[in-house]
Amino acid sequence: MNENNEQTNQNPNDQTGVQEGEKILSFPLPDDSHVMTFDLERANLRGRIIRMGRVLNDIFDPHDYPPIVADKLAETLTMAVLLSSMLKYDGIFILQIQGSGPITRLVADVSSDGKIRATAGYDADALNSLLAVKPANEIKMNELLQNGYLAFTVDQGSHTDRYQGIVELRGHSVRESIDHYFAQSEQIATALRLAVSKNTAGDTAGMWRAGAIMLQHVPDHADIPQDAKPIAENWLRAQILLETCRDDELLDPKLHDETLLYRLFHEEHVRIYPATPLSKACRCTTDKLRKILSLLSDDDRTHAMVDGAITMTCEFCNKQFSFTDVDLMTGEGAKEPDIS
Ligand SMILES: [Zn+2]
Repeated sequence: MNENNEQTNQNPNDQTGVQEGEKILSFPLPDDSHVMTFDLERANLRGRIIRMGRVLNDIFDPHDYPPIVADKLAETLTMAVLLSSMLKYDGIFILQIQGSGPITRLVADVSSDGKIRATAGYDADALNSLLAVKPANEIKMNELLQNGYLAFTVDQGSHTDRYQGIVELRGHSVRESIDHYFAQSEQIATALRLAVSKNTAGDTAGMWRAGAIMLQHVPDHADIPQDAKPIAENWLRAQILLETCRDDELLDPKLHDETLLYRLFHEEHVRIYPATPLSKACRCTTDKLRKILSLLSDDDRTHAMVDGAITMTCEFCNKQFSFTDVDLMTGEGAKEPDIS
């Protein structure tokens, strides 16, 4: 194939006549980050598949997270998208992990229209001390976030209830803690495969990928025809098929959802639904930060002022906001009820 053919063969599924190692994709790739619902009609199960690519770099690149922190945050964000996709809501889904270890918090939120953001808090010295005595892949979640817990919240605005679930952190991963949550508090049986990775070599060095597939047993789902086979048998068969899914399959940007699902579940009659694209969007605004500043006492505000201005950085997107005394007095925040 000559150079001119590169532009005419951009469909990663169309590999006819393409030899391994030939360059068939142009970079940067369009972002393919999305979450999609599917049914396994024969097994009477509902599933979700998530693939994330450039959106992870969009979120992580403004920060300088240590690798183990970024890795746990990618996992948190993937789980947040998965969990949010299981719910019907109109607002923001927030997954928050807090603890008192080297990592102090991992937060990811997902709006009902697929806007995502995430942030992490950590103590660099404590993290380095831990990594000096133990390889990263042997460190458990409860060592990273001591006395940690995981909470999720659905915020549908000020006039609706916030739904919240809380579970103690355990095991090696965010995923294990969530497995524990489902086992403990839900009747819905859930099976999950999840992988996150940052590429270290080749054309995509430095690029993050994440992928996950979750299956749920939904016996009463009206849209899914009931099968004559016993429920337990269906569930076991689908779980075994899901377990055959490899990390490199979940993470491969050239392996489309349809191909992967067919590869795993072709005997289960896969029905797919339209995907929801995922993109980075922060909700920070000048007004929101001004309101936070207005909650400080005069003394604290004066203390925070450097060269006549207070600078605040959004912990999610790293954007900086600067407020002078005049801004604070004339902005909306100054009109809040007197709280000093
Ligand atoms: Zn922001």
